[in-house]
Amino acid sequence: MKIGVISETLQGERRVALVPDAVAKLATSGFEVVVEAGAGEQADFTDDAYREAGVAVEADRRALLSTSDVVLSVQPLRLEDVERLRVGAATISFLQPATQYAVVEALAAQGITAFSLELLPRISRAQSMDALSSQASLAGYKAVLMAANRLGKFFPMLTTAAGTIPPARVLVLGAGVAGLQAIATARRLGAVVEAYDVRSAVKEEVKSLGASFLEFELETQEGQGGYAREQSEEFLTKQRELLTERVAAADVVITTAAIPGRRAPLLVTAPMVKGMRRGSVIVDLAAETGGNCEVTRPGQVVEVDGAWVDGTTNVPSTMALHASQLYARNVTNLLRHLASAGELKLDFEDEITRSCCVTHAGQVVNERARQLMRAAAAPQPTKGEAH
Ligand code: NAD
Repeated sequence: MKIGVISETLQGERRVALVPDAVAKLATSGFEVVVEAGAGEQADFTDDAYREAGVAVEADRRALLSTSDVVLSVQPLRLEDVERLRVGAATISFLQPATQYAVVEALAAQGITAFSLELLPRISRAQSMDALSSQASLAGYKAVLMAANRLGKFFPMLTTAAGTIPPARVLVLGAGVAGLQAIATARRLGAVVEAYDVRSAVKEEVKSLGASFLEFELETQEGQGGYAREQSEEFLTKQRELLTERVAAADVVITTAAIPGRRAPLLVTAPMVKGMRRGSVIVDLAAETGGNCEVTRPGQVVEVDGAWVDGTTNVPSTMALHASQLYARNVTNLLRHLASAGELKLDFEDEITRSCCVTHAGQVVNERARQLMRAAAAPQPTKGEAH
């Protein structure tokens, strides 16, 4: 079976779907791997490094697309790439069905079997394939470094000959995979950390990392599969009221709150930003899905009322080497699951296969993907409507 790894074309995307190490592992499992020339360059993997791992490097993208049995990428394929795939081929990526409606339809029409890594079930059997988690973890770590870099203060408490410096105060909103990694990183740098999540189930994890968990008199919002459920506007208004004082007390706020397939909940309003001390920093990891902060501008760092608001998008890509390495391991594990005997054998009774296969044999076969596509098409509140 021939696996094709293409260069990413989305602006700012530095990751590559397979790294030489992972390629070598696939080759020993009977897969033939071909990489597009330059695919790993932005993540510091040269074509020579792939060649040394026994992989062919192909300069012609069209040829690679039209001869591969499985095409691997990080971002969804472009429509023009889909057209070049051969009928019956497969693709694995972050397909983003909620926003890539046209690509999903084209994949189905072309008879491609497409797998979406976002749709992997959050079960222990699938943990080694969980690219959402591996990438969120990188983002949580990097968000803290981005904040520390901008903050004109030390993170740790320091006792110096010139006097004592108090530790920075970090508030993490959303304690999922990214939030927990942000908490751990901020703690390692010596900050005093508090965190809040609508799922009270994370309280013990937060505390075990040495942070305090903010408890408000609000009902827990546990949804399905370990995610939060969508919250009412009334709930969010109350939450913002309760958070106002904690946001004002923080030097750094890292926001990571998300609801799968929906716009990110608004947690920090413009007046709350105004209430922060000059020089405080907000890093909004939800910038891509609408932002947790009202004044976030996706892809930009802006100064608003004396506070810095960092809306950098695709944060994992800023750590492209390790991001690619972890992604490659996730994809390799999924591939070996789907093609254990060196050939794709789809068992739709299997929860992993069923959950992440979006298109197959000319159809969109995934109800969750359809729901995400419908939810994205439905009108959603804009930031301005939230208050
Ligand atoms: P996510 O990116 O969808 O959301 C991030 C966090 O935001 C979540 O913890 C969510 O509860 C929180 N959130 C949503 N609305 C909020 C609000 N208004 N205020 C504050 N916080 C809010 O989630 P994720 O990080 O991808 O995963 C969530 C959980 O899934 C994990 O913490 C874990 O328990 C579970 N998980 C399980 C597995 C597994 O078993 N294989 C793998 C990964 C994650």
